[in-house]
Parts: sequence; structure tokens; C-alpha cells
Amino acid sequence: LTGRQFIDAATASIDEIEAYYSTVASRPLLPDISPGYLRDLLPGQAPAKGEPWPEIQRDIERVVMPGMTHWQHPKFMAFFPASSSYPAILGELWSAALTVPAFNWICSPAVTELETVVLDWLAQILGLPASFLSKGEGGGVIQGSASEAIVTCMVAARERYIKRQLGRQGITEPEEFEDKAYELRSKLVALGSDHTHSSTKKGAIIAGTRFRSVEALRSDAFALKGENLRAKIEELTAQGLHPYYLTVCLGTTNTAAVDDFASIAEVAKDYPDIWIHCDAAYAGSALVLPEYHHISQQMAMVDSFDMSMHKWLLVNFDCSCLFIQKRRDLTDALTITPAYLRNQYTDSGLVTDYRDWQIPMGRRFRALKIWFVLRTWGVEGLQRHIEHSMNIGSLFANLMCSRLDLFEITTPPAFALTVFTVKPLPKRTRALSDDDGTNGADPRRPWPDAPVPSPLQADEGLRHAANQLTEEVYTLIEQRKEFFLTSTV
Ligand code: PLP
Repeated sequence: LTGRQFIDAATASIDEIEAYYSTVASRPLLPDISPGYLRDLLPGQAPAKGEPWPEIQRDIERVVMPGMTHWQHPKFMAFFPASSSYPAILGELWSAALTVPAFNWICSPAVTELETVVLDWLAQILGLPASFLSKGEGGGVIQGSASEAIVTCMVAARERYIKRQLGRQGITEPEEFEDKAYELRSKLVALGSDHTHSSTKKGAIIAGTRFRSVEALRSDAFALKGENLRAKIEELTAQGLHPYYLTVCLGTTNTAAVDDFASIAEVAKDYPDIWIHCDAAYAGSALVLPEYHHISQQMAMVDSFDMSMHKWLLVNFDCSCLFIQKRRDLTDALTITPAYLRNQYTDSGLVTDYRDWQIPMGRRFRALKIWFVLRTWGVEGLQRHIEHSMNIGSLFANLMCSRLDLFEITTPPAFALTVFTVKPLPKRTRALSDDDGTNGADPRRPWPDAPVPSPLQADEGLRHAANQLTEEVYTLIEQRKEFFLTSTV
């Protein structure tokens, strides 16, 4: 494709993408195919001769769409949201157009410098302590995923821990240091609550250390508490093991639980060598609302904080934003500078080379999509977007509350997420169409400040909506259990 052909192909694609978004609600949400469906639609070999673009584009509808689960469909409710927006799509387009794997500042200064600026903007919008900004010792970097952020920090945590421990023993001779480091590495333990996302355990596997979970109790709404953490650290230490890393959660995957940062901070004071990482992959987006900034300020106690704009903040995958208080902690662990990566700007120490803040060397120009989104919406627009989700979440929770005969609300709804279980059939006391309010329903409130169902029942419109929605949810659950039953608590 060259010149005019590219313009025609791109224009046709953009038209089709817009048409897709404006009609996605009318498509079936889930694919109706069997595994391996796609092989039958394509030849066994790649085409020997090139094909014209219109034929390729036609196959989006013929080959791809039948196998799509439409995450942008308004009725998609599984897992967590996957953000998408037109400005972010344009950012992806420009990123692909420019294609600069800017591992060093010198590779393309704009790529590095825009990333530093937009992540400083984001840190301020989220209300993070100033120590996470690049003008001090901290800074932000875009990672591909929350999992990548975790494993990157875990490796930095491991190296920092070893260096501190061996430094205290006065071990500096390189060979002795290496031997002792390997010995100590075999005793390192990464920690997280038993509701921490599996990426922490996976990170520990990759980092070559143990992982142990700390119990987060149902009675604490599945939040990790300092006292349980302390007991686990003491237990491990008594066994000769060395806890070196902890993931705390702002919004767990199962229930959007928020760990008890205040009591964890007390424990952290006694164990300053343990790296604390806050995984706010989903719920971190809510910090755009000033009413949550009291949580942001508690982040002063963590070494690193990560939230994924690609979940809830209008930027397409991949865009996980990692902030760190002391960037030297990352670069000390991850910097290797062979001759081919050296240059006068790196040597001067005046520029950022993001290859030293991540696992891969090359990187995409992802800052563009953040920049476009922040400028298109503005901070107020982002706040309205999150508020809107929260309002829908509250409405949903209230509707669920009005049918406690069918559903049991597991934990207090948080960050627009309502976690519920479907009551087993024998326990269902009423038919779905029977809308006689709370009769037969569990008389207890599902969480302390839950709305009393009766005002809802008084409103005909809402009662109708509640019944329609619960019926729809129930039908979907019965059809496709695996899409909903993503976790059991
Ligand atoms: N952490 C939390 C709390 C999550 O909910 C998820 C995914 O849902 C992840 C980490 C992993 O995200 P990613 O796919 O960006 O690695």
C-alpha cells in the first residue's frame, strides 16, 4: 500500500471502525462458534501473491467478527472493563506510524520526554504524593501490564534487599558477593494477601523466589491487615526465610477490596527492607476523584504504585502506569550498558533512558495515547467518566438489593463493582416475574449502609427495571456460567 492506496484503505477502515462502535450494541455479545472455527475459514498457507486491501478488509466481518467477544458492548459485564476511546485509538495510530522503539532518550527524545510529562500529569491527577514525580527522585513509566509492573518491581526489590543485607555484612568482593547473593536468594519470600492477583505469585516464579500468601479475612471485607502481615513475617523469619517484597491492593480482583494501608504502614516501619508495591490495576482510576485522595496520600508508604489506564481510564490496552518513589531502585537493578547503548547524553546523566526501568529494551510510543486522552477529556471529563461508572454501579447494587431472594451480595459494593452470588435454585423463593418486592427476601441488609429495598419498590419504573435486569443477568448466567463465575470467594 502506498500513497493514495493507504489513504483509501485507512479511510475505509476508520469508517468501518466508527460503524462498528455505533452498532456494537446490536451484535450478539458472545461468539457462537466452536474451538478451531477460524482454521476452516482460511487457506492452509499464506497467500503467494499480495491481495488488494478491500478483500482483506472484507474478512474482518467474515473471519474475525464471528469469533469476537465484544468487550466494548454495553452489556459486557465479565472480568473488568477494557477501556477504549477514539483519542486513544488515534494515539495507537500515530504510535504505529512513527514506530520508534525508543529504549534510550537519544533514540527519539520526544518519546521519552512526553512520557515523563504525561505521567507527572497523571500522578498529580491521581493525587499521589509529590515524591512520585520526576522532578525529585521518583517518576513514572508506562509498562505493558500490571503483571509486568509487578515482576519489574520484584526484581528491583530482590536486588535492593540483597545489596542492603550483604552491604551490612561488609561483603563487597565480587565473587564472594555473588556466592552469598545466590545463597540469600534461595531464602527470599514475596508476600501478598490471598486475594492478591495471581500476577504476584507469577512474578515470584519469574524472579526465582518463594511466594507466601497472608490471609485476608471475610470479616475484614477481604482486606489485608497489618497484624496478619506481621504474624506472617515473624513466622517466616523464624524459619530462616527473608520476606523482601509485598504487594498491597487498592481494589482486589475478586471483590475490589482495599487493604488496610494504615496498619500495614505501621508494620512497614519495622521492616524497611521489604519493598511494598501497591497494585491498583483497576481501582486506581477512581483516584481521579478528589474524594479518594486521602487514599492516594497513604501511598507515601509504598515504594511503587501501579494503575492501568487500560482498564478504566479510557486508554486502550496496553497502558499500565507505574510510579516509583526512588527511580534509582529500578535503575540500579536493571541498568546494563554495553558499548552499543552508550552515548554522550546517557553518560551525562541528564536524560532518562526508559530501558533501565523495564524488562524489554525497546518500547512503543504509548505516551501519545495518554496525552490525547488527557487533552480531549481534560481532568473534569475523566472525573465525570468515573462518576458515571460509579453511579451505574450504585444503581446496579440497588437493583440487586431489591431482589435478595435471587441474589446474595457478597461484599460491600466498591468502585462500581458489585460482587454477588446467585442463590441455589431451592433457595429461590419467588419466580423471576413475581415482583412483589421484599416478600420472601432475606430481611437482613447485605452490607451495613445498604439502601433499604422498600423505597425502590415504591417506584414502578425502577421495580420494572430491577426485574428486567435481574432476569437478564440470571438468563446470561444460566447460559454462560463460565463468563460470570470468574472467581469464588
Ligand atoms: N492486578 C489486578 C488487581 C487485576 O485485577 C489484574 C487483572 O484483572 C491484574 C493485576 C493483571 O492485569 P494485567 O493484565 O495488566 O497484567
